[in-house]
Amino acid sequence: MSRSDSHTYAEQPWFVPPAAETARDVVVIGAGVAGAGAAFSLAEAGFSVRVFERRETAAAETSAHPAAVVMPIISLKPAPVSRYHVAAYELTLQRIRALIERGLDPGWHPCGAVHLLNKPRLQKLYEGLAQTGLPAGIVTALSAAETAEYTGLPLQEPALLFPEAGWLHPPSFVQAQLAHERIRFFPAAPVDAIEPGGPGWRLLDEAGAVMAETPLLVLANAGDCLRFRESDWFPLIRIRGQLAYVAPEHCDRHPRSVICHDGYTVPATGVGHLMGATFDYHRDDDTLDRDDFENLVQRNQALLGLKTQIGALAMRGRVAFRSKCHDHLPMVGAVPDYAATMRDYHDITKGRSFKNYPKAPYVPGLYVTTAHGSRGMISSVMAGRILADQLVGAPAALDETLMAAVHPSRFIVRRLLRRQPPLRAADGRETGDASMNEWR
Ligand SMILES: Cc1cc2nc3c(=O)[nH]c(=O)nc-3n(C[C@H](O)[C@H](O)[C@H](O)COP(=O)(O)OP(=O)(O)OC[C@H]3O[C@@H](n4cnc5c(N)ncnc54)[C@H](O)[C@@H]3O)c2cc1C
Repeated sequence: MSRSDSHTYAEQPWFVPPAAETARDVVVIGAGVAGAGAAFSLAEAGFSVRVFERRETAAAETSAHPAAVVMPIISLKPAPVSRYHVAAYELTLQRIRALIERGLDPGWHPCGAVHLLNKPRLQKLYEGLAQTGLPAGIVTALSAAETAEYTGLPLQEPALLFPEAGWLHPPSFVQAQLAHERIRFFPAAPVDAIEPGGPGWRLLDEAGAVMAETPLLVLANAGDCLRFRESDWFPLIRIRGQLAYVAPEHCDRHPRSVICHDGYTVPATGVGHLMGATFDYHRDDDTLDRDDFENLVQRNQALLGLKTQIGALAMRGRVAFRSKCHDHLPMVGAVPDYAATMRDYHDITKGRSFKNYPKAPYVPGLYVTTAHGSRGMISSVMAGRILADQLVGAPAALDETLMAAVHPSRFIVRRLLRRQPPLRAADGRETGDASMNEWR
């Protein structure tokens, strides 16, 4: 156990949240699921929200998928990633229901999701499901016969079923959230720089002209956070992912639910059966790759009863880039003042009592929601809720351990505790793990 693990969140001054904000105007940069999720939660909490997006429409970058699975990653032991995902999943289902009740269309398809037991980890989870302590209704065990019945496929293996899961159309989900009456959306508005000024922050365009002033600013621009000095140290990794689409007429079988296996299959979307997804840390090109396409289809060949030769299929799909952190959790909350954090806590390995350190230094009025990795649909909703609670000073939706687990300062503090090189070198250069494709 590390020195920080043996202390509660409240005893670790670097994780103490900032005081509540008094202003009620906020600007969000970025209109993917992260920006929309934050904007909606803030609007619900009474804030007047402006969302600035560099593209002509919302959800035009990573969140532009024709379909995305809504489902948590769970584990046998209550690890932070699993606990965060389960809480985020439940909140997302609530949000989807709330949007539908308002007469909005979040593009929701509650067809359930079945996870085949393709890894020893999942087999253990299946056998030990009763001991996981997961809330009732999240996941159940299906026998082989039940799996076949549920999916409508001749599968001969047991599986885990997430009965309330499904898929949504992310652009619809984003638009439904942005339709809130307290949100104003500004498309085609690329923010080139931010600077302290006016009531708190100024947003500048490429020509240096002021686009907006705001007391409160939320960065929801994925890897583009690294453009700003205040957030250029975020340890974000960029991971290429490719999807493949196959028209149903090429298949003999048509699943009734989402199927997760080596990848995942989403049936009957607007682009046909959708197959995901590749993970590539080392490539940065956004053109569709024929080998990736064929590998994805190959994985689904038996499942879908593909009747056309793979080589004869037209290559259809999309490439996008995930932004994530090494620990598979997002960065959410007030943005730490990097230099002040390094200054205040530089000697935390020297045995001084934690209570003698000052409280966490933050950049005034600056917040972030990013690094939602492979589960942006659910993670973005929880992140929005965390931000809204933090800005109004409400009790956090998650317990102290989980709030520490998503706190942006965790990377600075971990490096100090492990005596690792800093994220930003003394000469201002960023350092980091060059073995992966970083967002810079
Ligand atoms: C192949 C693939 C499959 C996936 N499948 C799933 C899935 O099934 N389920 C799931 O939950 N997740 C899935 N994900 C993950 C999910 O897509 C992401 O986590 C999510 O889309 C990230 O949302 P975001 O809002 O952080 O980023 P983005 O969607 O990229 O949004 C950021 C926005 O900020 C804007 N922006 C950036 N810089 C600026 C600036 N300077 N000024 C103004 N605007 C700016 C961008 O234009 C963009 O619209 C998948 C990801 C990939 C790559």
